[in-house]
Amino acid sequence: MGFDYLGLSEDLLSIVEKSGYTVPTPIQAKAIPATLQGRDILGIAQTGTGKTASFTLPMIDILSQGRARARMPRSLILEPTRELATQVSESFEKYGAKSKLTMALLIGGVAFADQEKKLDRGVDVLIATPGRLMDHMQRGKVMLNGVEILVVDEADRMLDMGFIPDVEKICQAMPQKIQSLFFSATMPREIKRLTDKFLKDPKEIEVSAPASTAQTITQRLCMVKGGEKEKRDALRQLLKSEKIKNAIIFCNRKSVVKILAKSLAVHGYSVGELHGDMVQSIRTETLAKFKNDEIQLLVASDVAARGLDIPDVSHVFNFEIPNNPEDYVHRIGRTGRAGREGSSFTLTSPAEKKNLGFLHKFLGKEIQLHELPGHAPIKATERPAQAHKKSAPRKEASKKNPAKNSAEKAPNPQEKENTQKENAGKTRHTKDQPKDKPNRHQKSEPVIGMGDHTPAFLLSYESLNDKKD
Ligand code: AMP
Repeated sequence: MGFDYLGLSEDLLSIVEKSGYTVPTPIQAKAIPATLQGRDILGIAQTGTGKTASFTLPMIDILSQGRARARMPRSLILEPTRELATQVSESFEKYGAKSKLTMALLIGGVAFADQEKKLDRGVDVLIATPGRLMDHMQRGKVMLNGVEILVVDEADRMLDMGFIPDVEKICQAMPQKIQSLFFSATMPREIKRLTDKFLKDPKEIEVSAPASTAQTITQRLCMVKGGEKEKRDALRQLLKSEKIKNAIIFCNRKSVVKILAKSLAVHGYSVGELHGDMVQSIRTETLAKFKNDEIQLLVASDVAARGLDIPDVSHVFNFEIPNNPEDYVHRIGRTGRAGREGSSFTLTSPAEKKNLGFLHKFLGKEIQLHELPGHAPIKATERPAQAHKKSAPRKEASKKNPAKNSAEKAPNPQEKENTQKENAGKTRHTKDQPKDKPNRHQKSEPVIGMGDHTPAFLLSYESLNDKKD
């Protein structure tokens, strides 16, 4: 079945055709007609399934009738991160090329004044991260009582990043009679509660089982004896032996991202880094360079793991097994997108034995071993502490019990609030920062992060920083 049967306008059909899409993805085939009919949608879908077009395309047609009033957007799309919000705005620009719809993007790290000017002129489509939107609402610069369509994208990611209270407040500021579309890769209890509260008889669309990995991605596991140094050797070995167009290399910690990127650069690779400590402009620039093939390798923390649409990534490497097994699925999902072939390699050392066990349990299968010359398979009886001790003694909070490492990752409430400014919401600054370095919030430099949520205790600090915008 082609796109012609979904009920989209001729203008949109021609744009879709120009984009090179011939067949709607499963979520598009189900969500587009239902959205055009005015139904609420509960889409359980990961990124890479074509879900962005599944809501942007029908929205463009629905909003083509009517006019926006100052400060009263007609539709709102909430995204957990600045990058995702920017990506959705790019989709709107592409698909809405033939429409007269106006759009504004409200994300952190961008001057308030420019955003306010756009809002004053009236916008049909407002794309925002929850934190920045709340700031504008509190300043009285935007009112949500004119919203006709609401999209909450990556709802489970919002939950991870602590945005749900803000999302709930935003939903409550909407008129009763709106059309709501919720998308989430998984359906944790808290998201279910939210969708039960705000969706009216939604059409439920599940396009792949939660946390399933795409069939087009080959997955390999490389056992590496030793620590980070040995892993860097192993990684270079793979980079040489594999036919790599471009690759994202994921690390659990920003400190490891920085070291690995430096090391690869020293070895002559074309490499960039992406993590939550970088200013927004550099992050955007790095991402653009990677997308334009100016950089071949991107070393990243989980900041880049979810949602970012970088078409045609040939390889994903996990330099470490993620602490949260679900992140593995999101990481490797950066390759093999929209039916393309992709390869992923996960490097693991004996110290990660427990995390590897959790991952295999989560996946319901063992990842196929890939033997690297010079890296003999690790015996099951090998003790993790011995192998890891040499290379990274300072970082290992709990060498004797690596499982405790992941247990320690569970943030206490104070730490959780701090991490809400982190892009990935997973990497904890306490792990990454040298002991003598003050935490970001104690310093006067701008708070940088993919998310925009402002915990209450930081509001006064934030307003100071906002003045600098
Ligand atoms: P998304 O899940 O929205 O991030 O989309 C993932 C990728 O699939 C994007 O690069 C889209 O451009 C692409 N895409 C979306 N819809 C289709 C389609 N019907 N056919 C082929 N590619 C598509």
